[in-house]
Amino acid sequence: MSGKAALRALPSVDRVLSLAGAAITRFGRAEVTEAVRAALAGLRRDPPAPDVPDAAAVLALAEARLAVRDRSNLRPLFNLTGTVLHTNLGRALLAEAAIEAAVAAMRDAVALEFDLGTGRRGERDDHLRGLLRELTGAEDATVVNNNAAAVLITLNTLGAGRGALVSRGELIEIGGAFRMPDIMARAGVRLVEVGTTNRTHARDYEDALSPEIGLILKVHPSNYRIEGFTKAVAGAELAGIARAAGVPMLNDLGSGTLVDLSRLGLAKEPTVREAVAEGADIVTFSGDKLLGGPQAGFIVGRRDLIAAINRNPMKRALRLDKIRLAALAATLKLYRDPDRLIERLPTLRFLARPLAEIEALAQRLFPVLSGLLPPGFTAEPCSCRSQIGSGALPAETIPSAGLRLAAPDGVGLDRLAAALRDLPRPVIGYLRDGALVLDLRTLEDEPGFLASLAAMPTDALA
Ligand SMILES: *Cc1c(COP(=O)(O)O)cnc(C)c1O
Repeated sequence: MSGKAALRALPSVDRVLSLAGAAITRFGRAEVTEAVRAALAGLRRDPPAPDVPDAAAVLALAEARLAVRDRSNLRPLFNLTGTVLHTNLGRALLAEAAIEAAVAAMRDAVALEFDLGTGRRGERDDHLRGLLRELTGAEDATVVNNNAAAVLITLNTLGAGRGALVSRGELIEIGGAFRMPDIMARAGVRLVEVGTTNRTHARDYEDALSPEIGLILKVHPSNYRIEGFTKAVAGAELAGIARAAGVPMLNDLGSGTLVDLSRLGLAKEPTVREAVAEGADIVTFSGDKLLGGPQAGFIVGRRDLIAAINRNPMKRALRLDKIRLAALAATLKLYRDPDRLIERLPTLRFLARPLAEIEALAQRLFPVLSGLLPPGFTAEPCSCRSQIGSGALPAETIPSAGLRLAAPDGVGLDRLAAALRDLPRPVIGYLRDGALVLDLRTLEDEPGFLASLAAMPTDALA
């Protein structure tokens, strides 16, 4: 058939739509019509030879377009990067209790700012205030959109128009444009650097104090470590200096943890309770880092200062919605039962997962995976090292186990990684020594993982 004749032989839009009942039920008539038109236009531009596609074939093309268009890039994936709290992959996975609470709050009206006891107006922070006081030992607490917001509003409330002392060793940049000097500038606080990059002494802070200084800031060096000839002023001593000077001290813990990580066999990080007990007037930390909840920023500390922060008009711009408040309250409640916390909170469960269990998983999976990969590609168990991520214990890694996927040539590996990313439930690993490593520490849904890989089109790597 000549090109022109082939074009004339293509089915009409109406003919294809007459077969598209199921697609119309799923996507709606307008979407399907548009996809059929696009499929036909594609065939006209690039006529296939030798057979002219019939209506069913055109519908199949349209349905493939619809499926791709409908697919969410926020769909669940397998984070096998070895970074348990991966900022680019959404950080903490929520506990079941938190998911249930969030879903319930989404579906129905809740007493967000309503006191069920008195029938009068309530405060949205009240849902967390008591829990946070109980778990941190702080006098009072408030919560905002994330920890960056917590630092911003605290600096602005306590130090606008004045100076804040910060050690030169703590002027951090966290990924994604959170740089302490910039945040301070936006908060209207003048940065007064003290000490040197590697060594800051108590007298450096004391010498820099003046009536113009509004607060002292301590920042957790979340993503780096200064080693060698170093000195930093401990929180308790810095709190003493601040108290003597009559200015508040803010300790930005970053990740922050409510439990002693040495209980999980990890190195020690200061807990929020310890930072409060040391005498910091305000402590800030994240909801979705080690705490294991949704994105949020906690501000705990002195009652008068929390009240001032809550009066700051910025608070309204940074507040949380009912969904996250419900999930946060449910997450925090899990901390009341330390015996079952690790089992219930995915972040801590992953970090505490026994190596032998991960190794056994690798042994079980590698033969199945080898069978699913095209000829030439190999899968074998390997040892690897996980990290916590999101600024907790940046220099520390945890022995783990995984799968090492190798390709017959250099190009094959990129194609394999791309095919895994393109799965209905994408699988994300990392490249190391010419292989793709899948760290299995965070893999719990073994059948789901295998089903996902089995869905890999056989020609995906061609
Ligand atoms: C992570 C971090 C922040 C920012 O917290 P987000 O919750 O990501 O906004 C601020 N300060 C420190 C020290 C951090 O580690």
